Amino acid sequence: MQLLKDRIRKDGKIKSGDVLKVDSFLNHQMDIKLFVEIGKEFKRRFADYEVNKILTIEASGIGIACIVAQYFNVPVVFAKKSKTKNIAGDVYTTPVESFTHGRTYDIMVSKEFLGAGDKVLLIDDFLANGKALEGLAAIVKDSGAKLVGAGIVIEKGFQPGGDRLRAEGIRVESLAIVESMDETTGTICFRGDQ
Ligand code: 5GP
Repeated sequence: MQLLKDRIRKDGKIKSGDVLKVDSFLNHQMDIKLFVEIGKEFKRRFADYEVNKILTIEASGIGIACIVAQYFNVPVVFAKKSKTKNIAGDVYTTPVESFTHGRTYDIMVSKEFLGAGDKVLLIDDFLANGKALEGLAAIVKDSGAKLVGAGIVIEKGFQPGGDRLRAEGIRVESLAIVESMDETTGTICFRGDQ
């Protein structure tokens, strides 16, 4: 998605540890006009699929998922990150290792909001090592729902998550795939660019 790649080149900041900061339009301040274009693009890419629910993970995925959901006309469920192992109630839960915080969370979704018969599209802001998406996919599997695919705004293609999930047969659609980024020069190369 050219609009997104241009914006990443213009406003993205490359940090140490292979972190791309996009706080000015995606992760902290949110550019809703850009989110609208992102929503339309995911709808276009998943046009042939039946989706009745969007699943994301708190916190950064929620804003994006809400705008995307308008184009699918479906509700959004977000997995909550719990700091305790003592999860109360009837929930699906799985551990997820956080890329940005370097710790493991249990994520959980109430059984009330996901189950057999649901056709689920996963949405998230970033795909790096794939732990967040894997956790969400595990919850979908646990619930008996069907996993339609995953829509990712920015995939870091030099990290293993995307390739592994695709090899597992999950349809992963990333709107921008960063092939390499150089902290010193500030250069970002996208997959498909010459
Ligand atoms: P994964 O589980 O695929 O390793 O990482 C995905 C999660 O980590 C995303 O939900 C995102 O919040 C965060 N993340 C991973 N890499 C980056 C990055 O380069 N920049 C930002 N802002 N978040 C990232």
